[in-house]
Amino acid sequence: MSPSRQLTNWKDAIAELDGIETITDRDRVAKLSLDYYHFSPILQQQLADKRGNCVVRPTDENQVLQIARACVKHRVSLTIRGAGTGNYGQCIPLKSGIILDTTQMNAIRWIRDGIARVEAGVKMAVFDKQARQQGWELRMYPSTYRTATLGGFIGGGSGGIGSITYGMLADRGNVLAARVVTLEDEPKILELRGDEIQKINHAYGTNGIITELELPLAPAYPWAELIVIFDDFMSAARFGQALGNADGLIKKLICICAAPIPSYFPALKDYLPKGKHCALLMVAESSLESFQDLVREYGGEITYSKTALEASKGVSLAEFTWNHTTLHARSIDPNLTYLQTMFFNLDLVEELYQHFGNEVMMHLEFSRADGKTVPGGLQLVRFTNEERLNEIIAYHEARGAAIANPHTYHLESTGRQTLDSLQLQFKEQVDPYGLMNPGKMKSWWERQSVRSLES
Ligand code: FAD
Repeated sequence: MSPSRQLTNWKDAIAELDGIETITDRDRVAKLSLDYYHFSPILQQQLADKRGNCVVRPTDENQVLQIARACVKHRVSLTIRGAGTGNYGQCIPLKSGIILDTTQMNAIRWIRDGIARVEAGVKMAVFDKQARQQGWELRMYPSTYRTATLGGFIGGGSGGIGSITYGMLADRGNVLAARVVTLEDEPKILELRGDEIQKINHAYGTNGIITELELPLAPAYPWAELIVIFDDFMSAARFGQALGNADGLIKKLICICAAPIPSYFPALKDYLPKGKHCALLMVAESSLESFQDLVREYGGEITYSKTALEASKGVSLAEFTWNHTTLHARSIDPNLTYLQTMFFNLDLVEELYQHFGNEVMMHLEFSRADGKTVPGGLQLVRFTNEERLNEIIAYHEARGAAIANPHTYHLESTGRQTLDSLQLQFKEQVDPYGLMNPGKMKSWWERQSVRSLES
C-alpha cells in the first residue's frame, strides 16, 4: 500500500466506528501519542515527532472488535495505549494510524479465592483498593501503579513492588489468562491460558489487543514503610540482600540507593542526611520487630517508619523506587538517564560501583528469580554522548551483567535479548498484515523483508 493511501485510510476506518469516542484534535492526539520515552536521550531524538492520526476510546470488547475490523479492512496501523507510562516509546505510533486507548474499559469483573478477572484498562491502584476489601492485593505493581493500567503492565511492564516475593510478570503463574482480540481478516476473540500467556506477555501490543486479564492475587498485608540509612554503600546492598534472603520476614519492596541519589528526593530530605546511602522498604507490620534486629546487624539506622495506616495518608515510598527514582533525579538534573541491569550477585555490583563511581550511580531493586534473591539495577547515568553510553553498556556486559537496553524501542532489545519466536509466530497468526504497533517487533519486519526478497 502506498504511504499516501495509508495517510487517508484512517479516515475511512473511523467513518465506520459509529458510537465510539474518537479524538482528532491535534493537541490531544499529540499528547496521547507519547509516553515516557524521554528518559532516554537517544529515544528523544528518534521519537519526539511521532504522532498518531486519531485516538479511539472503546468502552467494551464489541467496540474493540469493530475497531479491529475497520483497521484490517482499511489496512490502518493500530497502536494500543493504556495510560502511556511506558518507557521506551512502547505505545508511540511509529507509522501514525489509529491509537486505541483502553482506559474506558475499566470493569473489575470479579475477585474471589485469590484470583481476579478485570478489563485491560483497570488502573492498578483502583483495583487494589477494591481487592483489599476482600483481603487480597496485586502480587506486584510498577511504581506508576496510581495511573498505569493492568493491560499496559502486561503489555509493557516487567515487575516492581512485590517482585521481591513473587518474581517478575514473565514468571509462570503470575498471569493466569488473557482474552485477546486479533487483527485477522475476520477478527477473533481468543482466550490464552497458562503458558500460552507468554505469547502476549511484554509484547508491546504487537500481537493482539488484550481486553481482559485473569490475575492471581496475594494476601493483603498492612505494609509499613521505612527508610534505613547506611554509612557505606556495600553495607546497604548487603542489608538488602539479607532482607531478601530472610524467609521469615514478609516484605514487598527492597530499594537501595547509593549516595548521591538520595539528594534527588527533596520531599524526603529530613530522613536522608547528606552523603548517606539508603534503603527504601515496605515490610509487613508483623515482621517489624525482627526486621529491627536485621537493621542493627548491618549497622543501619532507621530514620523513617510509618505504619500502613500512616503511609496510606501521605506520600508513598514506592513512588521513589523502581523507575520513579529516575523520574525524581531527572526532574533535578535532566542530563541523567538510566540503565536496566541484572547483576546476579553483589560481587559484580561492588565491582561496577567502584569502576564507574558517580558516572553510573548505583540504584538496586531486589527481586526473586528462580527461588533466589537477586539484585537488579536501575542505575542513574550521567549522560555525555551516545558513544560513551554504549561503552558503559558494553563494559557491563563484558563483566557479566545482563542489560535490558532502555535506549531502544525494539521489543527484542529491551528485556528480551533474543528473538522470541513464540511471539513472532503468534503475530503471524493474529496480525498477518503487520498492523499492530508496526516497527516495534524488529524480527517481524526482518522476516517480511526476507520473504519479499524470496518472492
Ligand atoms: P502503556 O505505556 O500505555 O503501554 C505499555 C505497552 O503495552 C505498549 O506497548 C502498549 O501498546 C501495550 N499495551 C497497553 N495496553 C494493552 C492492551 N490492552 N493489549 C495489548 N497491549 C497493550 N514498569 C515496570 O514494569 N515496573 C516499574 O516499577 C515501573 N516503574 C515506572 C516508573 C516510571 C516513573 C515510569 C515512567 C515508568 C515505569 N514503568 C515501570 C513502566 C510503565 O509505567 C509500566 O510498565 C506500566 O505498567 C505501563 O502501563 P500503562 O497503562 O501506562 O501502559
